[in-house]
Amino acid sequence: MVFFIIQIKPLKQNLYNVLKCFFEKLLYILTNFIIKIFIYLLELKLNFVRLLKVYVIKVILIFMMGSVFGSFLNVCIYRIPRNISIIFPSSFCPNCKKNIPFYYNIPIFGYFLLKGKCKYCKEKISFRYPVVEALSGIFAILCYHNWNSYIAFIHFLFISSLIVISYIDIDFQIIPDIISLPAILISILLSILVFNRDVLITLIATILGGGIFWLIGKLYELFAKKEGLGGGDVKLMAFFGAYLGIKSILFIIFVSSFLGTIYGLALIAFKGKKTSYAIPFGPFLSFGALLYLFYGEEIIKWYLKNL
Ligand SMILES: [Zn+2]
Repeated sequence: MVFFIIQIKPLKQNLYNVLKCFFEKLLYILTNFIIKIFIYLLELKLNFVRLLKVYVIKVILIFMMGSVFGSFLNVCIYRIPRNISIIFPSSFCPNCKKNIPFYYNIPIFGYFLLKGKCKYCKEKISFRYPVVEALSGIFAILCYHNWNSYIAFIHFLFISSLIVISYIDIDFQIIPDIISLPAILISILLSILVFNRDVLITLIATILGGGIFWLIGKLYELFAKKEGLGGGDVKLMAFFGAYLGIKSILFIIFVSSFLGTIYGLALIAFKGKKTSYAIPFGPFLSFGALLYLFYGEEIIKWYLKNL
């Protein structure tokens, strides 16, 4: 009994110590836990900010590279139909032929730096120049988003050729063979070697693309007794068939005829043009090809499901 009484005090003390210890541990674990969550969130935020920064810098760089390439496309659009070399001489004013200093050749900014006028003769510079540069920059970003490395670059070159072809067609109502014929050949090679398509199907797609369009043109001639579609459009469709594959052909023809018809009707309704007024068809075909490149598969899938 005596023993017990002696022992009770230390036991009480012990219990108190144990509880104290327990709560201290609990507090320690809790604070640790809160600090860890705090650090985790902070790191997450820092990581996010860092990723965002890297992403923004990447996008800006890609836009800049794209727009520099766009100023080269402007050179192509102006010079190819005029048979001037695209490499030499360096940039000049179309009006006074004076050389443009390199610091005014900065894409997009150069135009605004010059306030849209030639530094020497004050001739208005077409607003198309910064537009083409901005378009190239935007498409460079879109390509980077949609495809990985070298495929993105190849598709970007394809889109660039569409920009050049469309503007030349708008200006001169021609699609130069010097662009379309090499484009067909390169596309056949890319289709087989890079996109891993069947050789025979690629050749059929090329011939079918051009062939269908040639046939439509011939039928139109037969019934309307005048030429409707140029040979340039036929070669352009062969190019698209070779590059985008056999499934793209009907898609592009459908989209471009639809848009072309709407545009034609709008011209007749609002600008009082005659029904015989010829509109360049290259930009509409190019738009169809562009739509197919980015969303063709999805649109066809959606269409077949909802048929
Ligand atoms: Zn000038």
